[in-house]
Amino acid sequence: MATIFEKIASGEIPGEILHRDSHCFVLRDVEPRAPVHLLIVPLEPIRGLSAAGEGDRWLLGHLLLVAKKMAEKFAPGGFRVVVNDGKSAGQSVPHLHVHLLAGRDFSWPPG
Ligand code: AMP
Repeated sequence: MATIFEKIASGEIPGEILHRDSHCFVLRDVEPRAPVHLLIVPLEPIRGLSAAGEGDRWLLGHLLLVAKKMAEKFAPGGFRVVVNDGKSAGQSVPHLHVHLLAGRDFSWPPG
Protein backbone atom coordinates (compact mmCIF):
# COMPACT_ATOMS: atom_id res chain seq x y z
CA MET A 1 0.00 0.00 0.00
CA ALA A 2 1.28 3.48 -0.87
CA THR A 3 2.39 5.65 2.04
CA ILE A 4 0.84 9.07 2.59
CA PHE A 5 4.04 10.63 1.26
CA GLU A 6 3.83 8.61 -1.96
CA LYS A 7 0.24 9.80 -2.35
CA ILE A 8 1.31 13.42 -1.86
CA ALA A 9 4.22 13.01 -4.30
CA SER A 10 1.87 11.65 -6.97
CA GLY A 11 -0.74 14.37 -6.36
CA GLU A 12 -3.35 11.89 -5.16
CA ILE A 13 -3.71 13.88 -1.95
CA PRO A 14 -2.74 17.54 -1.49
CA GLY A 15 0.38 18.81 0.18
CA GLU A 16 2.39 22.02 0.18
CA ILE A 17 5.47 21.02 -1.77
CA LEU A 18 8.30 23.56 -1.66
CA HIS A 19 10.95 21.72 -3.67
CA ARG A 20 11.04 18.73 -5.96
CA ASP A 21 13.90 17.00 -7.75
CA SER A 22 14.40 13.57 -9.28
CA HIS A 23 15.20 11.96 -5.90
CA CYS A 24 13.14 13.74 -3.24
CA PHE A 25 10.63 16.44 -2.43
CA VAL A 26 10.16 18.88 0.43
CA LEU A 27 6.78 19.10 2.11
CA ARG A 28 5.52 21.54 4.72
CA ASP A 29 4.45 19.53 7.77
CA VAL A 30 0.69 19.62 8.28
CA GLU A 31 1.09 19.67 12.09
CA PRO A 32 4.09 21.97 12.56
CA ARG A 33 6.09 21.66 15.78
CA ALA A 34 7.99 24.87 15.05
CA PRO A 35 7.39 28.00 12.93
CA VAL A 36 9.40 26.28 10.18
CA HIS A 37 8.73 22.54 9.94
CA LEU A 38 9.62 20.90 6.64
CA LEU A 39 9.93 17.25 5.69
CA ILE A 40 12.55 16.11 3.18
CA VAL A 41 11.16 12.91 1.67
CA PRO A 42 12.84 10.54 -0.79
CA LEU A 43 10.69 9.45 -3.71
CA GLU A 44 11.84 5.89 -3.04
CA PRO A 45 9.63 4.55 -0.25
CA ILE A 46 12.34 3.31 2.14
CA ARG A 47 10.55 2.40 5.41
CA GLY A 48 12.94 4.34 7.61
CA LEU A 49 16.61 5.00 8.25
CA SER A 50 16.98 1.53 9.76
CA ALA A 51 15.83 0.05 6.43
CA ALA A 52 18.39 2.02 4.40
CA GLY A 53 21.42 0.18 3.07
CA GLU A 54 24.85 0.82 1.56
CA GLY A 55 23.16 1.43 -1.78
CA ASP A 56 21.33 4.40 -0.28
CA ARG A 57 24.54 6.22 0.70
CA TRP A 58 24.21 8.89 -2.01
CA LEU A 59 20.48 9.38 -1.39
CA LEU A 60 21.00 9.86 2.36
CA GLY A 61 23.63 12.50 1.67
CA HIS A 62 21.34 14.17 -0.83
CA LEU A 63 18.52 14.43 1.72
CA LEU A 64 20.82 16.26 4.14
CA LEU A 65 22.14 18.59 1.45
CA VAL A 66 18.57 19.44 0.43
CA ALA A 67 17.81 20.08 4.13
CA LYS A 68 20.79 22.44 4.22
CA LYS A 69 19.57 24.29 1.12
CA MET A 70 16.08 24.63 2.60
CA ALA A 71 17.63 25.92 5.84
CA GLU A 72 19.56 28.59 3.91
CA LYS A 73 16.24 29.81 2.57
CA PHE A 74 13.87 29.30 5.50
CA ALA A 75 16.03 29.04 8.63
CA PRO A 76 18.82 31.64 8.67
CA GLY A 77 18.95 31.68 12.48
CA GLY A 78 19.78 27.99 12.93
CA PHE A 79 17.87 24.77 12.62
CA ARG A 80 17.46 21.23 13.85
CA VAL A 81 17.33 18.08 11.73
CA VAL A 82 15.54 15.01 13.09
CA VAL A 83 14.96 11.49 11.79
CA ASN A 84 12.55 9.43 13.88
CA ASP A 85 12.92 5.69 13.42
CA GLY A 86 10.57 3.16 14.91
CA LYS A 87 7.80 3.24 17.46
CA SER A 88 9.78 4.37 20.51
CA ALA A 89 11.13 7.35 18.56
CA GLY A 90 7.62 8.34 17.52
CA GLN A 91 7.87 7.53 13.81
CA SER A 92 4.30 7.71 12.52
CA VAL A 93 4.80 7.48 8.75
CA PRO A 94 6.71 4.38 7.56
CA HIS A 95 8.49 6.24 4.77
CA LEU A 96 11.92 7.72 5.50
CA HIS A 97 11.85 11.50 6.00
CA VAL A 98 14.06 14.15 7.50
CA HIS A 99 12.40 16.82 9.66
CA LEU A 100 13.84 20.32 9.35
CA LEU A 101 12.73 22.47 12.29
CA ALA A 102 13.50 26.14 12.87
CA GLY A 103 12.15 29.47 14.01
CA ARG A 104 12.30 28.91 17.77
CA ASP A 105 14.76 27.75 20.44
CA PHE A 106 15.04 23.99 20.99
CA SER A 107 15.88 22.22 24.21
CA TRP A 108 18.51 19.50 24.57
CA PRO A 109 18.19 16.61 25.07
CA PRO A 110 14.99 16.37 23.03
CA GLY A 111 11.96 14.90 24.77
P1 AMP B 1 7.19 11.03 12.01
O1 AMP B 1 6.29 11.10 13.20
O2 AMP B 1 8.63 11.25 12.30
O3 AMP B 1 6.92 9.77 11.19
O4 AMP B 1 6.77 12.26 11.10
C1 AMP B 1 5.67 12.23 10.24
C2 AMP B 1 5.29 13.67 10.02
O5 AMP B 1 4.42 13.70 8.90
C3 AMP B 1 4.52 14.28 11.20
O6 AMP B 1 5.22 15.43 11.67
C4 AMP B 1 3.17 14.64 10.61
O7 AMP B 1 2.64 15.84 11.10
C5 AMP B 1 3.49 14.72 9.12
N1 AMP B 1 2.38 14.47 8.24
C6 AMP B 1 1.47 13.45 8.31
N2 AMP B 1 0.57 13.55 7.31
C7 AMP B 1 0.92 14.66 6.60
C8 AMP B 1 0.37 15.31 5.46
N3 AMP B 1 -0.73 14.84 4.85
N4 AMP B 1 0.99 16.43 5.00
C9 AMP B 1 2.09 16.92 5.62
N5 AMP B 1 2.65 16.35 6.70
C10 AMP B 1 2.08 15.25 7.19
